Amino acid sequence: MKRTGIFFTYFQGERLRDFPQALAGILDKENVSYYDAVYNSGDGLYYLEPVPEELLLRVHSWNMVQQVKLTGDYESALYSAGGTVQAAAKIWQGKFDNAFIFTSFGDHHAGRNFYGGMCYFNGAALAITALRERGVKRFAIVDTDSHHADGTRDIFGNDNDVLHICLCYQDHQDNHNNVDIKIPHHTSDEEYLAKIKQEFVPRAVAFKPDYIFWEFGYDATQGEYGDKGLTKDCHPKLAGLIKGAADKVCHGRLITILCGGSGRTLATYTIPRIIRCLAELGNCQ
Ligand SMILES: [Zn+2]
Ligand SMILES: [Zn+2]
Repeated sequence: MKRTGIFFTYFQGERLRDFPQALAGILDKENVSYYDAVYNSGDGLYYLEPVPEELLLRVHSWNMVQQVKLTGDYESALYSAGGTVQAAAKIWQGKFDNAFIFTSFGDHHAGRNFYGGMCYFNGAALAITALRERGVKRFAIVDTDSHHADGTRDIFGNDNDVLHICLCYQDHQDNHNNVDIKIPHHTSDEEYLAKIKQEFVPRAVAFKPDYIFWEFGYDATQGEYGDKGLTKDCHPKLAGLIKGAADKVCHGRLITILCGGSGRTLATYTIPRIIRCLAELGNCQ
């Protein structure tokens, strides 16, 4: 079994209302560690740490950080991205193999000097910046949110040590390891999974990253706001493929970050299945 860290921040919104209760049967497993910013009580629980401002300013501009402070969401955003930074460090220390990060604000629309689409700070970029200080060199980011990862692309667009594979509506392009895989407006699970197998896995194997980050959005599911025709059962299968790549190329080091998606029922259905897959508590489906 894999040792899996779960990082939970829940401050507002509907979609995670069933959590952490929906993780019953997972949180009590010996190979699962749970870090919480809100529901911590008493001894024995782990605390989630916010991103230090010093690290924040190495990815995002001072102006942008000041703007986020004015929104009233600043502290929540620090905890939200903090899970990814903390998970990356714990994995490097050997505390666990992979992690799932529940975010209250996403990552991938947050660039150096802009934010939007419910993304304030780019947790993956912050984690990569912190890992580089520890001497970690190469990273792959795969993004299965329905929308283009403009923020992540802004930060890593000219970075030859970060492979960024974004499945979105853009035309296929490949510059400096930045690849957009065009997904049609209506696709099937089979076609989508085939894209991961053909476009992501071989590139990741050739690139030899030290970590894989998965920007997991479920907004491409049928009925969601980025509907591409995927069913609710596609995401655990994606987890299986991406985890398989991480096992093959980087000792299983995989950080899964919750991105877009709004449905509560869908979150409650799919996220426990993904975590079971990551922790090898069940099949990836
Ligand atoms: Zn999206
Ligand atoms: Zn894209």
